[in-house]
Amino acid sequence: MEKTSWHVLSNGEYLTASSKLSMALDEADAVLIGVGAGMAAADGFTYAGPRFTQNFPDFIEKYRWLDMFQASVFEFENLNEEWSFFSRFVDLNYMSQPLGESYIRLKELLEGRNYHIITSNADNAFEKAGFDKNKVFDMQGKYNLLQCSKGCTPKRYNNEELMKDMIDRQRGMKVPDDLIPYCKECGAPMELNRRNHTDWMVEDARFFKEQKLYKQFLQEYADKKLLILELGCGYMAPQVIKHPFQNMTENQSNSLYMTVNLKDYSIPQNIRNRTIWLQEDIKDLLLNIQQEQQFTKMNFYETEQ
Ligand SMILES: [Zn+2]
Repeated sequence: MEKTSWHVLSNGEYLTASSKLSMALDEADAVLIGVGAGMAAADGFTYAGPRFTQNFPDFIEKYRWLDMFQASVFEFENLNEEWSFFSRFVDLNYMSQPLGESYIRLKELLEGRNYHIITSNADNAFEKAGFDKNKVFDMQGKYNLLQCSKGCTPKRYNNEELMKDMIDRQRGMKVPDDLIPYCKECGAPMELNRRNHTDWMVEDARFFKEQKLYKQFLQEYADKKLLILELGCGYMAPQVIKHPFQNMTENQSNSLYMTVNLKDYSIPQNIRNRTIWLQEDIKDLLLNIQQEQQFTKMNFYETEQ
């Protein structure tokens, strides 16, 4: 078996999940974090349940949708109805989305460390929690931005004022014609900035800046002890985070891959000796770490006196 320099791999066998994560963070030169839908769900930002049924009862009655994911890829009868749904969707998942406790805890945990985040979530959780924008790469788009559906120009436009107007003025699941946005350059309908089933979306200067900062970080820590931490990434789009992270682990022999997920996903054979799977609820995990660190601090002060 290949030798590694990670103590958490050689000595961490009987530690709790939170202690394993703490130990890995402390011995890492830097942390790369991939965040997926499971992290949002841990804070209650789910696409099903009351959050969905309470905000879209009229659409559910008409179309019998099961969850917001199905709804978000639905082929609507017309743009008036489509924007009636999406304006409420943007409000729920962006403008009015409350602050996520786990995001705050993650931010505190990363303080003073070298880190970078890539996320497949298009909500505003990182912004709301006050993360440094230059350390977060929004790979899959942002719900508060619009793009030309034909992608004629590499520009994205803020949609928040428009969404508020649509929410105020919609009647019977339809927004009025004058609120439907069309591209100023080519006249095609506008849509939310998110990657579609062919992996396409509009990428602008801001996107390329985020991508560049992400690549710089990867380059800087390529040979170092890099903790590659995956929080709540499932198999909806493994090409975005999971597969690149596993490839990186394989190619960078000093790295450690830590995946936090309640579900058991198969780990490629050749990186298993440098993988730690924490089968934990993300919210509990981050809460436990915070409590352990507070406890350690308390003990430290008591011994000092
Ligand atoms: Zn256009």
